[in-house]
Amino acid sequence: MSAYPIHPDSYADFLTHDELRRIQLHRLQEVVRVSYERVPLTRQRMQERGLKPEHIRTLGDAALLPFMQKTDLRDTYPYGLFARPMHEVVRLHASSGTTGKPIVVGYTRDDLRVWSSVMTRTLSAAGLNERDVVQNAFGYGLFTGGLGAHYGAEALGATVIPISGGNTERQLLVMQDFGVTAICSTPSYFLHLIEAIEAVGGFRDLKLRTGIFGAEPWTEAMRAYIQEHAKIKAYDIYGLTEIIGPGVATECCCQAGLHVFEDHFLMEIVDPDTGRVLPDGEEGELVLTTLSKQATPMIRFRTHDITAIDPAPCACGRTIRRVRRVTHRSDDMLIIRGVNVFPSQIEAALLKVGKELPHYQIVLARQAGLDQMEVQVEMTEALFRDKVSAVEQLQRKMVQAIEHVVGLRVNVRLVEPQSIARSQGKAKRVLDQRKEGAKP
Ligand SMILES: [Zn+2]
Repeated sequence: MSAYPIHPDSYADFLTHDELRRIQLHRLQEVVRVSYERVPLTRQRMQERGLKPEHIRTLGDAALLPFMQKTDLRDTYPYGLFARPMHEVVRLHASSGTTGKPIVVGYTRDDLRVWSSVMTRTLSAAGLNERDVVQNAFGYGLFTGGLGAHYGAEALGATVIPISGGNTERQLLVMQDFGVTAICSTPSYFLHLIEAIEAVGGFRDLKLRTGIFGAEPWTEAMRAYIQEHAKIKAYDIYGLTEIIGPGVATECCCQAGLHVFEDHFLMEIVDPDTGRVLPDGEEGELVLTTLSKQATPMIRFRTHDITAIDPAPCACGRTIRRVRRVTHRSDDMLIIRGVNVFPSQIEAALLKVGKELPHYQIVLARQAGLDQMEVQVEMTEALFRDKVSAVEQLQRKMVQAIEHVVGLRVNVRLVEPQSIARSQGKAKRVLDQRKEGAKP
């Protein structure tokens, strides 16, 4: 069992294999039946395959079902995938996306109860309880992060400070004066807070001991940096708007992969190119089916997040399986001169060499028809005042480290302190200047 007392909602993390599979199958059959009846797109696609809800007899039969994509939400904007009438929908959230219209998801009262419960389980897995004072620096609004963490923390019985993102000075004041013990934020925004805290003398008098970080990919190297500098335990959480928001999966005290709340979300790992289901342990794209979502059920939703299922038992005793930390998405891959590069690989390589230099940006440009990648890394004040030769040596090491990881020689430039824009929410790590001035 867990090393510390857990919230009663978390008992669902410890079901026996048979209990869990029975619940999953029952819920899968129900969500397929309801979607077939009420969501025209799902019915049409199932009919094209000659599939009826009663053909789903085992969990493995999920593989027969058609996939859903983010584009399906766009194409049916705003309410085309809703399986409940609007008078039963009590909340809407939306994700902005980079192009065109947002995608819209809905929640019934029961959906909100489930969401709050999986977030309670998330926070409980990180060791939080009713004695914690939680500074919720996830953005409030259409983004699911703020309200998702908020209701989960309240249901846990913790004291929630709904501060949202931004306004760094106030964040520090609250953290200090309100006796904050835990913070929820994006990892990149917390980096920004670390910097601000260190500028006023450090973490010594703070009670902060836990950080709950999500909404953007981050690496183990970044975790090490955060834990060391803030003297806290930093937990990775995982979720996405289309499925429920945060609360799909979370790390436990072991910090060794993320437990998926399998009683509410059926997971599969598929080959991103062929869609074929892969066995446990193999890396591929995570595909999720909502097992209890009423307003906007998703069947076999392609997340584009790359991970693998770890079927090994976890030392915490949870029986719900884990997935490896998601460090990249199949669609955030950069192709530079024919080589595939993920921003997370760059981050890991940089932090290996420059442990104290977490602020970086990847700039892509096109010169004479060739893609150029420059990685800009911000120096500390001390390094900035150091000898030119020391800076050049570090630059060379970073170039080598990146070349070692991705097999591509890119330009690394150490830039002045404070010259890279700080994240106020989700970090913008890649600045792609190739598109500017490009032909439409
Ligand atoms: Zn565990």
